[in-house]
Amino acid sequence: MQENTKWQNRDLAVLWHPCTQMKDHEAYPPIPIRRGEGVWLEDFDGRRYIDAVSSWWVNIFGHANPRINAAVKQQLDTLEHVILAGFSHEPAVTLAERLVEITPPGLSRCFYADNGSAAVEVSLKMSFHYWLNRGQHKKTRFICLSNSYHGETLGALSVGDVALYKETYAPLLMESIVVPGPDCYAREQGESCADVARRQFAHMERALGQHADEVCAVIVEPLIQCAGNMRMYDPEYLRLLRDACNRFGVHLIADEIAVGFGRTGTLFACEQAAVTPDFMCLSKGLTAGYLPLAAVLTTDEIYRAFYDDYERMTAFLHSHSYTGNPLACSAALATLDIFATDNVVHRNRDLSARMYDAVAELADHPHVAEIRQTGMVLAVEMVADKPSRTPYPWQERRGLRVYHHALSKGALLRPLGNVVYFMPPYVITPEQIDTLGSIAIEGIELATHE
Ligand SMILES: *Cc1c(COP(=O)(O)O)cnc(C)c1O
Repeated sequence: MQENTKWQNRDLAVLWHPCTQMKDHEAYPPIPIRRGEGVWLEDFDGRRYIDAVSSWWVNIFGHANPRINAAVKQQLDTLEHVILAGFSHEPAVTLAERLVEITPPGLSRCFYADNGSAAVEVSLKMSFHYWLNRGQHKKTRFICLSNSYHGETLGALSVGDVALYKETYAPLLMESIVVPGPDCYAREQGESCADVARRQFAHMERALGQHADEVCAVIVEPLIQCAGNMRMYDPEYLRLLRDACNRFGVHLIADEIAVGFGRTGTLFACEQAAVTPDFMCLSKGLTAGYLPLAAVLTTDEIYRAFYDDYERMTAFLHSHSYTGNPLACSAALATLDIFATDNVVHRNRDLSARMYDAVAELADHPHVAEIRQTGMVLAVEMVADKPSRTPYPWQERRGLRVYHHALSKGALLRPLGNVVYFMPPYVITPEQIDTLGSIAIEGIELATHE
């Protein structure tokens, strides 16, 4: 028996995989990976795959990166974990200092959690609790954008709008106010993305006007709605939103879990609108895909609303067992070192241009509605009919055909519905990008044929 098959059988006997209809594995068992190096993943039969999706958007500097490996190994021999309530440690302190330094001005406090959804929960609870501590008892709701995604725990799902993840659990969720968003895919003839942002902002202005007295915060994914099929929008929307949140007395939560750490062409997406949110949620790229860690950055103004004598019961009594884990913090510190020394954001500009060139010919493809790109995220939207942008019926699972084709050619491309995208580690080479481009073009050709 081949090594892959052996592991597949053991896997399917005991494992239940995330985001998966397990019956699909009858035809296509999961691929067991024995090692990784740079952009490459290698299975137990020795086949190699370029990790074009950064292992679910987390890996930014390649697998088994020597610099991050060294940092984690050193930390491992020093301190693996310690309770962060009443105790502290060097990596947690240093990382908080550095995050405060590199995030937008005004964010001066760092609260740790251990995954993205948990960070979103923290920001929602903190916002609500801030208003409560300030005597505003009526503020209990949140505004989010259509097509948004903020994670899959119940609070995070409540402020999301991707039906695939949300609908089933609707009876368990709190009711958010969902406002039509600035998705530039919906632009009309002659409109720019900035025009769409301004036009669509009228919905937000109206919602805030109607509900501000009962709303704690507006939560958004700056510039790219990644899980919402990589839909993108103009920074103008964030500028308008920051201003409106100030005017209406509502917090702004920037969920940069997917877009932070260089993805959009700047270290943080909010920089492109020159705005400081009241809360910024970070995870995923924070540890370059090594270990689960999340941070919520917030302002002094928020922090001070919780700071009082214990008996007044205003403290933020939220915790996770692995809050601020030292190993994860050491991976994050090594990640920030790479950003600091390697001019990453600047170098990514060439890679980003190369990604577009690698698939540019698809712009004229009869079943491609558009190629869109923001920094190191490029997406190709396949449609049944180009002029009307009629989507393929989801049941046809066209994206899945691209996925299987890519695997057979040595690439991990995992489309979202009918959207094929590249979100590779920043250590990818121009030649590897070209390879991905050819594989994607062939895959899309096959998937849209007949
Ligand atoms: C992935 C993601 C989350 C959730 O993070 P998890 O670590 O998977 O819980 C939240 N928000 C955004 C924008 C994400 O992309």
